[in-house]
This record gives sequence, C-alpha cells and structure tokens, in this order.
Amino acid sequence: MSHAKAFSAASPTSPLAPATIPRRDPTPGDVAIEILFCGVCHSDLHMVRNEWGVTAYPVVPGHEIVGRVTRVGAAVTKYKPGDLAAVGCLVDSDGTCPHCKADHEQFCANQILTYSAPDRHLGGFTYGGYSDSIVVDERFVLRVPSNLDLAGAAPLLCAGITTWSPIRQQGDIRGKKVGVVGLGGLGHMGVKFAHAFGAHVVVFTTSPGKTADALRLGADEVVMSRNSDEMRKHSGSFDFILDTVSADHDVNAYLHLLAPNGNLTLVGAPPKPLAVSSFALILGRRSLSGSNIGGIAETQEMLDFCGAHGITADVEVIPIQKVNEAYERLLKSDVKYRFSIDMASLKSV
Ligand code: NAP
Ligand code: ZN
Repeated sequence: MSHAKAFSAASPTSPLAPATIPRRDPTPGDVAIEILFCGVCHSDLHMVRNEWGVTAYPVVPGHEIVGRVTRVGAAVTKYKPGDLAAVGCLVDSDGTCPHCKADHEQFCANQILTYSAPDRHLGGFTYGGYSDSIVVDERFVLRVPSNLDLAGAAPLLCAGITTWSPIRQQGDIRGKKVGVVGLGGLGHMGVKFAHAFGAHVVVFTTSPGKTADALRLGADEVVMSRNSDEMRKHSGSFDFILDTVSADHDVNAYLHLLAPNGNLTLVGAPPKPLAVSSFALILGRRSLSGSNIGGIAETQEMLDFCGAHGITADVEVIPIQKVNEAYERLLKSDVKYRFSIDMASLKSV
C-alpha cells in the first residue's frame, strides 16, 4: 500500500480539505496512474454534500481523470509506464453478467464507482480523482488520444460519455431537431456532439450571457428558457431533447416542445423528484427516459472520435485550492464550461 495526497470532505457540511489516503499496490491486472487533471462534475458537488443520500465519508470526489501511467502489474497488456491514461466513473464490475458481457458495465449490479463505493481491495470506500494518483484495473482504464489537450480531455470521461451515449442511442440525428437544456459541463459537450453529428441544435439556457458561447460551441439557435413566448414558438417541434439541468425545474415545459414520438432524456440528476404531467406525454405519444454515463468500450469510442475530430471540453483550469470556490460558482451556473483541476497544484499542499 502507498499513500496519496488528496482533497476530501469529512461531512456534508465540510469543505474539501487536504488529506492523505491509501492506494493499493498494483495487482497483476492493475495500472497505477499519476493524475495530471481531474474535471469537476456537478455530481461531485451532489455527492460531497450528500444531496442524493448515498455518500460515504470521508469522500474524495473526482471521476474525470487523466494522467500518466507510472507502474503496471505483470498481467497488464494494454499500458506501459509513460502512457497517457484516463479513468471515468467506474473502476470495476463483475464482468460476468449479461450487461458486462454486452459492454454495458454501467448497468452491472455489481459495478464499483470510482469514489464512495465499497473498496474490494483495501476495505472502506473507493477514493476518486481529486488526488495525485490512483490504481485501477486495466479493464477500466481508457486510452487518451495524444493530440488532445489533457485539461480539456479529462471532462470527456464523464460529461463527454454521459452526453455521447444518449445522443448515439437516437441513431442518425442528421437534420433532426435536437434540444440541449442547460449549458454547463454536460450541456456544452452535448452541443458539441449533436452539432458534430449534423443535428439542428437548440440550446435552452437560463443564462442570457451564454448566448454567444452557445452559438460558438455549435448551437443553431438559443432559447431563453424563462421566456414563455420564446419557448412557445418551438411547441411540438423537437425530435429529441437532452436535459442536463442539475436543479429542480419544470420538465413539462420541455415535454410540450417534443414532436409526436419525440423523446426527452434526462441526464441531469436533481435530488428532488420532478413532477411530470401525464398529458405532456400522452398527447403525441412522447417519451421521457434517462441515461447513465456509458460503457467502457463506448467511452473509448467517444474518446477516439474526440481525438479524430479535435473535440475537448472548454475548461477553466484551476488549482485544487480553488475547488470549494468552484463548487459555489457551479451553483450559480457560473462555469465556462467545466472546471479542470491541475493536479500539479497538489504538490504544494
Ligand atoms: P453544471 O456544469 O453545473 O451545469 C448545469 C447547468 O444546468 C447550469 O450551467 C445551468 O445552465 C443549468 N441550471 C442550473 N440550475 C438551474 C435551474 N435552477 N433551472 C434551470 N437550469 C439550471 O452541471 P453538470 O456537471 O453539467 O451536471 C449536470 C447534472 O447532470 C447534475 O445533476 C449531475 O449530477 C448530472 N450528471 C449525470 C450523469 C449521468 O450519468 N446521468 C453524469 C454526470 C452528471 P444554464 O446557465 O444554461 O441555464
Ligand atoms: Zn460526472
């Protein structure tokens, strides 16, 4: 076992603060990674503050991890020291259930999340990427295309795959009218992907100041979601809407914008249940569904696509000392469009 520097929270009301955490010695199948950048996902904030009621403390968040391989176990074949490597929201699954066999580890009942999940190796709970190193089973390590900026590549591991997967699920969206609700970390990646796949992309935002950025990121239109006249103009017209909002909001306002047979997929995970109007679904045989990250093979496919098309997240790189401030800014929708922690800042802690 070795020790790593990290930032952890001791309780739902504690700020993130420096801590020392254990990391296992690599088993034959493991890859040890020096973490270079870790994205700040709104899920980290929900978890640190126990807003979903499932957090184990102390919690070291972070599941958008990019770094360099430092050691590998004897049975590792895909990585060697010096390689770039990435880790997302999952670090293990049973590998034997039908979901794992279909490359859908995100549905495995025995999946192990990167943080705050039972640690089969050391006991206690897993610790995430707000840390200088991590040890992960090779099966859950991803290759990072070498042409990508690393700070901007880190958020692909959650914000990227979480928007990629439901958009791909829609099939060929060329020429389709696709809405993205909320222009934050997930939303801005959804805009980039939907644009790359040739959709007509409409961003719904509560932040008037984000209009120019939305258009630059690939939106064809921007709608101020709090303006009911602007909303009404789009009634019954969308094939697909991806809802990335992190807080309580009226989902019916968006269901009414779907065309017959249209689908709204929730990826945002507000802690409070959303009220859904039956008529918004019945009229037009619309559907409401959800989507959770993506499988490992699908994540690699997304990273390779990003490498081929030069796609990364738009990031504000911060030292880890600013992470509590970054959380406060997330709550004000003041993120352009993902915070990415430069883990070199942990050296001075
Ligand atoms: P984020 O960067 O904070 O972005 C959320 C955006 O939602 C904000 O920028 C804002 O966009 C909009 N918003 C915030 N509060 C709002 C409100 N009260 N009413 C309407 N719009 C509001 O968050 P994120 O990291 O993208 O994560 C978004 C959500 O997805 C979180 O709940 C997170 O836990 C969840 N998530 C789910 C998965 C999954 O697998 N399903 C994976 C990762 C994250 P505008 O300023 O444009 O309005
Ligand atoms: Zn996330």
